[in-house]
Amino acid sequence: MSTWHDYLKEQGHAPDWPYPIRFEQEQEIDADVLVIGGGIAGCWAAISAARQGLNVVLVEKGDTIRSGAGGPGCDHWCNAPANPLSNVDPDEWAEHMADRPYCNGIGIQIQCREDYDTLLEMEQMGGKIRDTDDEYAGAVGRDDKTKLMNSPRYGWTHSYLPGGGKENAFIKSDKNEDIRTNVVIRVWGSTFKPALKKECKRLGVKIFDRVMATGLLTEKGDQGARVVGATGFNNRTGEFMIFKSKSTILATAGGGSIWLISTELGGYSNMMSRTITGDGTVMAWNAGAELTKMEGTGVLRIATGLKHKWYTGAGDASYENVPIVDANGKVLPYPIQGWVDAGAMVPSPEVEQAIREGILKGEYALPFYGDFPSMPDVERRATWNLMLGEESTTKIIINTFNKAGYDESKDLLQSYKFIEGNSLPQWREPGYGGGLVVDWNLKTTLDGLYAAGTQMFSPEDHSYAAATGRYAGRKAADYAREVGESKISREQVDREKARVYAPVKRSGGMEWKELHAGIARAMQYYVSEFKTESLLNMGLDALQKIEEESVPLLFALDPHKLMRSLEDISLLTYAKIIIHASLARKASSFPLGLQRIDYPAVDPAEWNKFLTVKLENGKVKVGELPLTFWGNMKEQYEAHNKDYTGVYEGK
Ligand SMILES: Cc1cc2nc3c(=O)[nH]c(=O)nc-3n(C[C@H](O)[C@H](O)[C@H](O)COP(=O)(O)OP(=O)(O)OC[C@H]3O[C@@H](n4cnc5c(N)ncnc54)[C@H](O)[C@@H]3O)c2cc1C
Repeated sequence: MSTWHDYLKEQGHAPDWPYPIRFEQEQEIDADVLVIGGGIAGCWAAISAARQGLNVVLVEKGDTIRSGAGGPGCDHWCNAPANPLSNVDPDEWAEHMADRPYCNGIGIQIQCREDYDTLLEMEQMGGKIRDTDDEYAGAVGRDDKTKLMNSPRYGWTHSYLPGGGKENAFIKSDKNEDIRTNVVIRVWGSTFKPALKKECKRLGVKIFDRVMATGLLTEKGDQGARVVGATGFNNRTGEFMIFKSKSTILATAGGGSIWLISTELGGYSNMMSRTITGDGTVMAWNAGAELTKMEGTGVLRIATGLKHKWYTGAGDASYENVPIVDANGKVLPYPIQGWVDAGAMVPSPEVEQAIREGILKGEYALPFYGDFPSMPDVERRATWNLMLGEESTTKIIINTFNKAGYDESKDLLQSYKFIEGNSLPQWREPGYGGGLVVDWNLKTTLDGLYAAGTQMFSPEDHSYAAATGRYAGRKAADYAREVGESKISREQVDREKARVYAPVKRSGGMEWKELHAGIARAMQYYVSEFKTESLLNMGLDALQKIEEESVPLLFALDPHKLMRSLEDISLLTYAKIIIHASLARKASSFPLGLQRIDYPAVDPAEWNKFLTVKLENGKVKVGELPLTFWGNMKEQYEAHNKDYTGVYEGK
């Protein structure tokens, strides 16, 4: 089969690969603590382990300076109830936040206790967390004393109460009224990732950028045994990397774009970073670690490449306080100054339905716009410059608009809500759900292996990744100090090396995009909106066929394409795990987005539990855990953190 690359080569136009090729060559690195994934959780983990004086190695597929979902920025530091402006008690707030089925009570408790300490530590590293230049004096939520900026949009109490009730035991106020919890702080998150990398370097963390980790090494190469290192390869030179470690922290985030591939738009269709392809979860799976909530999937939400890049344009998340008007300037019933009845991102279903009906009746003319000009100047600047400037990819939006002459004090900004259409039910995503089972040390079910951030089951957001990374770093360092030297199995290394380099040994066959498209198609057909035992088994068969017939055809002409090929294999394995977990849950579930036609009862009491899956001697083993298997959150946290003091100004 001839490829575009072949054609360019024949025509003499193919550019030379700009890096030296070192396929098969080896580099061996020793670490006390090995961190895999240099995103938010990974950087924090590396820093906190290095603060304890240990030899820390950080492996990152991209460049740590901006890699991962949080690389470009972050505008909301969520869930920091220990901040001095907060109106809630961290432990009570943690309980409240964990009062949802299938959440991660361990991570939430850590976040609520340590999130503000983490933010202050970020400030010490050079991240900007306060309005020190008084740019936004007078903005809603800005505190003149601390110069912290609370988010006016998030963190109203009764938005979190079932039924929108107003009684709230958590509020330090005897008045029965809406009151701001002040748990969400607006931050200058584009400063964070460079600060994290700089701090890693300052502390002597050895960073291996552009290295994709491919597999975990276990004692004697046995599945289920203690983790003693990992393998990887440099995606520019192709060099093989062998990392030996006393403890290892996985922080490669969650699953990737399993149901969809957009060949026109970078081959990807997912909100999160392109580098996130389920690798860590699959590495842990192959090593025998227990995973949970893998059956939880949902319809693709935002930034798919098939929809507007970032949410729906004016009117969502970072567009804090922007009133929405219709094409004739009529104000829509979008709540501003706090999305009282809704989740953070969208209007409540009732409000949305009312707008939809209004459109059909001709009461509201499409398209809608964000009415920036009607906002007070300080609020407008805070939203346009701070929120959109810091959020992440939204910076591209404001830069592009500014360059084109957009003036937010005069111009409306189009909203894509209601005109961009909805995702199809077969365009799904693994979402923020499945991941590694962890205990109160953020240790997985394998000795020597820890997890943090989106790598764990039921993760939350940026600050959660930061706080749990920081915590996992401490705990993995404790273990590394106690445990003896590790020994890796050469046989296991050789097996992995053969697997890794197989695609570069072929000069023709199937390229990664085609394989990715095949996996996505199988998932769209068989693991879609409706699930039955037979459909799921057909999905497994289809993936098995791809594994047996197509994977051996994969060819990669350079180290970058080799990375893409190996990512496909991760996606394939991840997809199979989703099917195994979906087969195991013989009930439908609303929070898990699981509709089993053959088991229509939705969340029946006997199925309200976590199902776990793992490989044991190469066979899938299903287990279960109670919904609150972590026990009393406050007590457990305190029992496991006797030495921890919030050294910063937390409560
Ligand atoms: C556009 C956007 C805006 C957001 N805004 C906010 C916000 O304002 N507030 C908020 O709270 N949250 C926000 N989030 C979510 C937040 O960014 C994530 O929750 C957070 O980054 C998760 O951290 P993590 O460490 O788990 O994953 P990531 O930060 O994504 O890090 C995972 C890292 O692992 C690396 N990796 C993957 N596979 C491998 C491998 N095989 N080998 C080596 N390295 C590997 C990746 O390259 C990446 O660097 C936003 C996300 C996006 C995409």
